[in-house]
Amino acid sequence: MADVQIDINDSPFQRMPVEPTQLAENATFPFQCRKGISCWNACCSNIDISLTPYDILRLKKRLGMSSGDFLVQYTLPYEMDKDSIAGVKFKPVEGGSACQFMTPEGCSVYEDRPTACRYYPIALLSMRKQDEYTDTVSYAMVKEAHCKGHEEPRPISIEDYRKEQGVDVYDELGRGWRQLVLKKKSSGPTVGTPSKRSLQLFFMACYDLDRFKEFVTSEGFNDAYELTDEEQQKILGDEMELMQFAFRFLRQVMFDEQTIPMRADALERRLARKQEREAQMAEIVQKLGPLDDIVKPAAEVDDKYRCAD
Ligand code: SF4
Ligand code: SF4
Repeated sequence: MADVQIDINDSPFQRMPVEPTQLAENATFPFQCRKGISCWNACCSNIDISLTPYDILRLKKRLGMSSGDFLVQYTLPYEMDKDSIAGVKFKPVEGGSACQFMTPEGCSVYEDRPTACRYYPIALLSMRKQDEYTDTVSYAMVKEAHCKGHEEPRPISIEDYRKEQGVDVYDELGRGWRQLVLKKKSSGPTVGTPSKRSLQLFFMACYDLDRFKEFVTSEGFNDAYELTDEEQQKILGDEMELMQFAFRFLRQVMFDEQTIPMRADALERRLARKQEREAQMAEIVQKLGPLDDIVKPAAEVDDKYRCAD
């Protein structure tokens, strides 16, 4: 199964294994995937599935894991574009290409399967012009030779297929992330190359929600941003709210869309904390006595521990 969930701008089909046919919204196509079909599981045996933040949220919840553990066990990061914006894909089984959730009976996480699995064999194409904020959506059909679902005599419209596969909520909750990615991809050189820090923040806020939650409660975050108690409670008590807040935070960091109030004295507070830490360190050093007593002079250090010049 190829990643057919999102592709963008002037050459939307370049990453796909076969060139899809673009479909009108009201188009009807013959397709059915059913147990007993001769190609059962063929699509899940050779995967290339990108995940949205909401996909990860659903799966980590189902599996009772933290987002960090989920990312390590089930995913691989990849670069979405030349500026290193990170995406996350399913990691196949060790030494193979099949999905880790594939079983002889089918998908073991079916109710929480990702957006790309739900859409297949339809491709969701999101496009956004440089001067527009919102994306326009269109659809395409991907016909891979191994998929016999196209030979089934069941006509279905895109609208009904989307309902059948339950993609509405996935589209809705993935929109904030899609727009961020589209905006980054289409913003061009005016926004400039993102810093390493903003790329790390993007990865954490989009995919590692548990770590983002820790970040939002950290002293550093609260020194810089001013959230009301009500807003704090809302985002810390509901992972969907937290995810939406993560997108909002990223729009502020990456595109300077100021919607989260910043403390006027943010810099001063940070400096004060730094000075406090340095003062604590100096106190510890003083208590330990002269460093010469505990650290050997360089000349006495064995040669094998030296760094090469
Ligand atoms: S999550 Fe399920 S449907 Fe998607 S590739 Fe894996 S086994 Fe197949
Ligand atoms: S019909 Fe297509 S989607 Fe269904 S199991 Fe076969 S290859 Fe997969």
